[in-house]
Amino acid sequence: MGGVRTGRCLCGGVQISIRNAPVAMGACHCENCRRWTGSALIALTVAPADIAIVGSDRVTAYRSSDWATRSFCSVCGSTLWYRLTVPTPEEGSYEIPVGLLDNPHGLPLTSEIYIDRKPDGYVLAGATRQQTAAEFEAFIQASMKE
Ligand SMILES: [Zn+2]
Ligand SMILES: [Zn+2]
Repeated sequence: MGGVRTGRCLCGGVQISIRNAPVAMGACHCENCRRWTGSALIALTVAPADIAIVGSDRVTAYRSSDWATRSFCSVCGSTLWYRLTVPTPEEGSYEIPVGLLDNPHGLPLTSEIYIDRKPDGYVLAGATRQQTAAEFEAFIQASMKE
């Protein structure tokens, strides 16, 4: 874990501060993330206790599936965070897009999920672990049973 990272949406109305900040990030190429972000969600996983949010009154949460919500700034439309709402080890954690950070550097990309759904015109460098949609969904099903 690596210190404090701060970030904000495009209009600055929503500001975040992350302590014990993760030292790596992961990418999701699923269809929902693709539509929501315009490309892929490349994000850091942050525990609820490690994030402070200013401007919550501007945040709108969209329930994108039975298992998650996706929040955005209701003023500027910036993608803010994805949260799992089903009981898994990561329930309630925030997936914070790297693009919100004031300093987005120094975070290696270590995993990609839904790799088989990625548009074929680009590749991301560096990921050490890749899972297809089927592999990732099997993993989630297994974690929910624990
Ligand atoms: Zn905003
Ligand atoms: Zn996704």
